[in-house]
Amino acid sequence: MSEVTLSHVEKVYPDGYHAVRDFNLKIEDKQFVVFVGPSGCGKSTTLRMIAGLEDISSGELRIGDQRVNDVPPKNRDIAMVFQNYALYPHMTVYENMAFGLKLRGLPKAEVDKKVKDAAEFLGLQSMLERRPAALSGGQRQRVAVGRAVVRDPKCFLFDEPLSNLDARLRVQMRAEIKKLQARLGATTIYVTHDQEEAMTLGDRVVVMKDGVVQQIGAPLDIYRKPVNRFVAGFLGTPPMNFIAGRIAIADGGVWFDEGSFRLRLPPPQQSIAGGTSVVAGIRAHAFKLTSDAAAGFAAAAEVVEPLGEAVDVTFTAGNAGDLVARLPAESQVQPRDVMRLTVEPERIH
Ligand code: ADP
Repeated sequence: MSEVTLSHVEKVYPDGYHAVRDFNLKIEDKQFVVFVGPSGCGKSTTLRMIAGLEDISSGELRIGDQRVNDVPPKNRDIAMVFQNYALYPHMTVYENMAFGLKLRGLPKAEVDKKVKDAAEFLGLQSMLERRPAALSGGQRQRVAVGRAVVRDPKCFLFDEPLSNLDARLRVQMRAEIKKLQARLGATTIYVTHDQEEAMTLGDRVVVMKDGVVQQIGAPLDIYRKPVNRFVAGFLGTPPMNFIAGRIAIADGGVWFDEGSFRLRLPPPQQSIAGGTSVVAGIRAHAFKLTSDAAAGFAAAAEVVEPLGEAVDVTFTAGNAGDLVARLPAESQVQPRDVMRLTVEPERIH
């Protein structure tokens, strides 16, 4: 079993910087967990503590049933893939992949079999004699992954492994990593600042900010029920719209009142007084066009960006500016049009 458990883990760097605070997480065997958050939020520090490349200031780290706080990296049975690949330039692809196994004194035939199996799976068979300089970025990343795979570790750690690749290749490698993880069935921890990568890869996502875990959950659960405004704004494209206003109690219901327009809210879970200042969060996908002049609110289209199946329309409404609605391409909205938009109460955060 290769569960990874962090209990009250903290990191204070020697200069006094408190990079990670009270980090608690239990990663089940075979699970794919993604740490996501803006640059500097402490993702890599946490990953490096798990790898043993950084000391843990306080708290406990367990891999399987062993406390590993003081176990050196090479004895933790984990393999890490870095953003910069960290390949040896003077070695061939084969040698790069075989190096760690040879160091551990594995018999030559066994090394050969492991390297060739991994190369086949990763589509590197024809490149085994090349040096890294003669490979594309995507191929180098595959070699780095291959080097981790041959070690057959309890746990894989990935630190922004796709950051140096172009957009198309990132999407392709993302799918490959997901397939690879499913096939290997190894516990995996993956760090990225890219929310889309986090949403598509993770069984579970850990959203971090300023060294503090904000929310842990399945990607869709977090997307549907973000616990705070930071998480709501961080996950999802386009980012969630935020509109300032007040609560109004009228016509037998509870409303979000922007001042110039109002939107009906679902029945509140706790009592809330009329006049309370609130911020409504609405995803771009939640806006619907209506032809009913009595429904919804007036929105002035400013910028229309075609995306193929859909268009992103930037609009203003009342005092709220630069809101974005994702509408079907057939809606034919033009800049300067005044549209009427509605939102189902349940889709207002
Ligand atoms: P992320 O991976 O989320 O981008 P990091 O974990 O690399 O963030 O860094 C978290 C914070 O810790 C950052 O503010 C960074 O500047 C700081 N930090 C990282 N390494 C050190 C160090 N060796 N000494 C002091 N502060 C550090």
